[in-house]
Amino acid sequence: MQNEIKGTLYIVATPIGNLQDITLRAIEVLKAVDRIAAEDTRHSMPLLKHFSISKPCISMHEFNERERLKIILEYLQQGESIALISDAGTPLISDPGFHLVREAKALDIKVVAIPGPCAAIAALSVAGLPTDKFTFEGFLPPKMEARRHRLALLLHENRSMIFYEAPHRLLSVLQTMTEIFGQSRKAVVARELTKLHESVRGGTLASLMEYYQLHDNELRGEFVVLVEGINEKVSESKEVIPENVLDILLEELPLKQAAMLASKITGERKNVLYEMALAKKSDV
Ligand code: SAM
Repeated sequence: MQNEIKGTLYIVATPIGNLQDITLRAIEVLKAVDRIAAEDTRHSMPLLKHFSISKPCISMHEFNERERLKIILEYLQQGESIALISDAGTPLISDPGFHLVREAKALDIKVVAIPGPCAAIAALSVAGLPTDKFTFEGFLPPKMEARRHRLALLLHENRSMIFYEAPHRLLSVLQTMTEIFGQSRKAVVARELTKLHESVRGGTLASLMEYYQLHDNELRGEFVVLVEGINEKVSESKEVIPENVLDILLEELPLKQAAMLASKITGERKNVLYEMALAKKSDV
């Protein structure tokens, strides 16, 4: 490996389905490092085997990251080079690794990105939604109430929004998005990217919900949901922004009354402002 530096932590992206998507550099680094830290060592085994990579592996997942990072940092400080991989795609993107990278940088350990596949970026690149500004929201909270609050806070988001979603929650998430963002908001569902049953379906939130209600056999696999941001011209031309009005009223009034008055003043739906108010209160 060119310019290999001992004691370096490599953050290596791996395929999100199609093994051909691994980069030449990723293979080179995985073959050269002393050790591989993998989210799930059993899961990564077929990938490593496929590319004839045989290295000592250490598991580091969501539940043992804090404990494992100490061991990994020790290896790095002893001069070992380590590659971090996750089950699929780019580590740290809705995957473990953030604490490790932060601590490694605090210790002046060199951290090097070996970029490659990421479902969010792959989906955005083919969605046909604006790409000049976007926000990655990861997974929404699984509980309905918390999910509604999170979405209500995004009501005035003007960037394209990217969400990861589990197949069994897709319909209910599309339903909640329809309630909060409105039936006609543009969205895209990207399913099983780079795999056999890949599909990228765009339309309004209402049409997507209808499609998946009728095709529940397609509610399997991995999904990225993208929602277009609110039209900037529309939001700028409004004289009053509902969220701002709500903020002012919340300082003086009980939540329900503030939401009701903000709705009367701005014309925004009362239930949406109520969700937003609840979300703001629970964020405090
Ligand atoms: N680190 C990964 C990345 O870079 O995309 C994401 C890991 S996250 C735990 C897994 C989620 O990513 C899935 O539930 C799904 O929402 C999305 N995802 C991963 N692979 C995908 C694919 N091939 N097609 C669509 N979505 C995918």
